[in-house]
Amino acid sequence: MLPNHIVTSNSLSLAFQSILAANQGRNCVWAVVELSSPASGNSGYWATHSTQNVVQVIGQALKDRIEQAAVRNSGQAISAADRRNINEKIAAEVGVQGLRDKVGHAEERLILAWPDIMEDYSQARHGEQPDTARLYLSDSPCTLYDGNKASNNISGKPPSCFAKLNLLISENASITSWAIYYRKPWGILQTKKQGKMSLDQWNNVQAGQALVTSNERYQAFSPELEATAKRAGL
Ligand SMILES: [Zn+2]
Repeated sequence: MLPNHIVTSNSLSLAFQSILAANQGRNCVWAVVELSSPASGNSGYWATHSTQNVVQVIGQALKDRIEQAAVRNSGQAISAADRRNINEKIAAEVGVQGLRDKVGHAEERLILAWPDIMEDYSQARHGEQPDTARLYLSDSPCTLYDGNKASNNISGKPPSCFAKLNLLISENASITSWAIYYRKPWGILQTKKQGKMSLDQWNNVQAGQALVTSNERYQAFSPELEATAKRAGL
């Protein structure tokens, strides 16, 4: 059975529209997988989104108290870099405590639902197995360089969506063609904060991007894909 957060569609445009309909916040990050078999002409789309962030995970009140405690200890306001470190430590701790099922990036939600998605494809198509997978991501996947995350603690999965996607590909040998399209580089979210980041943090953003852009499976959205997303309202 598909988890509730996975929405099935018959076209990429409808998949994008389902994300818009479910979008609960402007920080929504989404992922769509298209499974198909060129031989039969069958295809299907499965979409999910995530608004996971520290506030969602631990609640604003607890986050405020932790920050206030840090301010009291240091006698000065928290810098953006320190706040980021605190958030990452909280996120990692939340994951260790086993709340991970409630968190997770959009890619991770797709990956965790993968066996159900594959079964959903086959059940609706007389047992046929797909051999082609296309992933459409709002953001390029996070990498090891992006710091601690709650979902780094998902058992049996490596930290970071980039590594989890690599594992997914290696574990699904029956799918012989993969492509992963991302609408914007994850680092763009960070670019706005560049002035507030330490040089180390900024270098890590760049290193994470280099991992993705040097991998031949990853491509930025084409003008056609961008138009499809825009027409769907994303
Ligand atoms: Zn991620």
